[in-house]
Amino acid sequence: MLTQEKQLDNILILSIIIDNHIYNKCPLLMIINSELQTRSNSKCELCAATDQLSGYPVAPYDDESIDHNIVVCHTCNDQLTDSAKTDANHWRCLNDSMWSQVPAVQVVAWRMLNQLRAEGWPQDLLDIMYMEDEVMVWAKLVLGDSDESSITHKDSNGTFLTAGDTVTLTKDLTVKGAGFTAKRGTAVRNISLVPDNSNQLEGRVNGTQIVILTEFVKRAN
Ligand SMILES: [Zn+2]
Repeated sequence: MLTQEKQLDNILILSIIIDNHIYNKCPLLMIINSELQTRSNSKCELCAATDQLSGYPVAPYDDESIDHNIVVCHTCNDQLTDSAKTDANHWRCLNDSMWSQVPAVQVVAWRMLNQLRAEGWPQDLLDIMYMEDEVMVWAKLVLGDSDESSITHKDSNGTFLTAGDTVTLTKDLTVKGAGFTAKRGTAVRNISLVPDNSNQLEGRVNGTQIVILTEFVKRAN
């Protein structure tokens, strides 16, 4: 089953294709369609453009629902569906839309900022972005390894941590068995996250790979 979106006179129409027959009158989709128009105020929920709007389903989802769809414009849709077309500057719009109350919008914003984080400014936005834990879990569901994505790691300030981050220690930590103390303020670069324990990460201190509790680190900007 595929979902097709088209736009007529600025009215959003979601139609559904089953065995190549188009059912425009599917009651569920008509409800979703009208609720989406109301929620989005007939604007792209990412960049606020008002032309060529369509529904964009936010993966993964089990069923068609308003919670798993956002309204996007042609430009956003193109770039979301084909990463080769991504124009980083267009996504400066996320500076505003990442504060949306709609979880599906937050998920798309977070994923795009992550994709663009090498640009610098997206990382700054990620650092201040706020998401409920379950929304973060959803956002991470399409990123890489599913084992790692089901568990989230946060530093002592509640900032989400990602593999490859640099953190600093917020207190002196005695490294049992290694015979040294890792000093408060020590930077640990290129951390990895312990997949099955959200309270632990791994990093190299004094040339030794150690497990560090997330409550004793702060992500470096
Ligand atoms: Zn847009």
